[in-house]
Amino acid sequence: MEKIAIFPGSFDPFTVGHESIVRRATLLFDRIIIMVGFNSSKKFFFPLEKRVKWIREVFEDDDNISVEVHQGLTVDFCKKMGAGYILRGLRTSADFEFERAIAQVNKQMYPEIETIFLLTTPEHTPVNSTIVRDIIMHGGDASRFLPRSLNMNEFRNGDNGE
Ligand code: ADP
Repeated sequence: MEKIAIFPGSFDPFTVGHESIVRRATLLFDRIIIMVGFNSSKKFFFPLEKRVKWIREVFEDDDNISVEVHQGLTVDFCKKMGAGYILRGLRTSADFEFERAIAQVNKQMYPEIETIFLLTTPEHTPVNSTIVRDIIMHGGDASRFLPRSLNMNEFRNGDNGE
């Protein structure tokens, strides 16, 4: 049976840390679906279409990695896509506590699902979307924290792509 993993997140924006987790996980799964969460009550900095477009660009040469938008519970999306795994990255013990609760609740809601955690590589541990957003908002150069294949001009000078 095909091993399909869902990598859920808001990816506001998608960083080198996210990219690294997905690329490392291709050794474990046949297919990875990056699920860009959509929540009408949550305010995002980058518009949904931009976040999706940027991730698609990063993986345009990878046939086994796709990007989808989903509004609602991750487990419902897993059922819809026939995925048996949720992929998450772990940076710190704070991540662990947060992720543990989500994974255990997901397991209760959908016992067939397994959440698989990959530990961040040391160089990506301090990278998070909030800091990258702050750098961009204040006109700084965040290029080293963003996937190489992306065109930095789209992010520069506080331009949020709208
Ligand atoms: P959420 O909105 O669910 O917090 P994020 O977009 O911030 O989603 O992150 C999605 C996933 O990527 C989470 O599992 C998070 O722990 C992981 N992640 C975020 N930044 C990094 C990083 N620098 N290295 C490894 N994993 C990361």
